[in-house]
Amino acid sequence: MIQCKKAQYTIFQSALYATTTTVIRTEDLVIVADPTWLPDEVEQIRQYVSFIRGDRPLYLCFTHSDWDHVLGFGAFPDAVTIASRKTAEHPDPEAVIEQIASFDEKYYLVRTYPLAYPRIDIAVERDGQRLTVGGTTLTFYLAPGHTADGLFTVVEPPGIWIAGDYLSDIEFPYIYDGSAAYEETMAKVPFILDGHNVTLTVPGHGAAAASKDEVLERRRKSLEYIRETREAVAVGREHETFAQLAEYRFPRGMKSFHEQNIRVFRRELGLDFTSAGE
Ligand SMILES: [Zn+2]
Repeated sequence: MIQCKKAQYTIFQSALYATTTTVIRTEDLVIVADPTWLPDEVEQIRQYVSFIRGDRPLYLCFTHSDWDHVLGFGAFPDAVTIASRKTAEHPDPEAVIEQIASFDEKYYLVRTYPLAYPRIDIAVERDGQRLTVGGTTLTFYLAPGHTADGLFTVVEPPGIWIAGDYLSDIEFPYIYDGSAAYEETMAKVPFILDGHNVTLTVPGHGAAAASKDEVLERRRKSLEYIRETREAVAVGREHETFAQLAEYRFPRGMKSFHEQNIRVFRRELGLDFTSAGE
């Protein structure tokens, strides 16, 4: 479905996990970020992009290499692709394809395009790196913490921040990479809001945020979740942290991710005796 639409952008939202796809059209180019998820949804996005594209170049941007965010790559074979250097040099791309294939086979899904791990044409290496096409500027920031290979992209005009799996209104932080990296990435948020005329911030899952105050509030909540969960794990009271899941819209679906975060905190705090000596 379409979450929101203006002259310069359309945010698609999958039926699954409220996963977003951002399509931005400027005078100079069309950008598609993370086209996903179900075959009909990817096809709808593909048709929409070919309808609005005209003779503009097409850029395909990946926020990170989680399989649900890269599975649409094969539907846009002529796009110029952008991702972080770490996404470009993923250590095990076959494993990502295996996750997509497993999902599709589990639900008997058939895609009309070939599955392949993204070939990345423009690999982003540092904060503030830019790509200018005519009057459109993309500014990139590295965003580790959820995964090590996360990437923020700010597109100006129209001032859209494609945030990947951060700053969600429906999810607490999912920490696969590390909580310190996650906090460092959150420390970039005010800097990005100050440095750009951001009019819309699009998380990988959930609703886009139209105001800076909303983005800062989501950041505050993310940092609070990390701090409180870490402190509870440190003193062996992690069982008490499950009560906070009730604040979220989908607590049953998110419980296993909270348990996963607790395992990460235990490891970071040196409390993970099960893996000692590995
Ligand atoms: Zn995601």
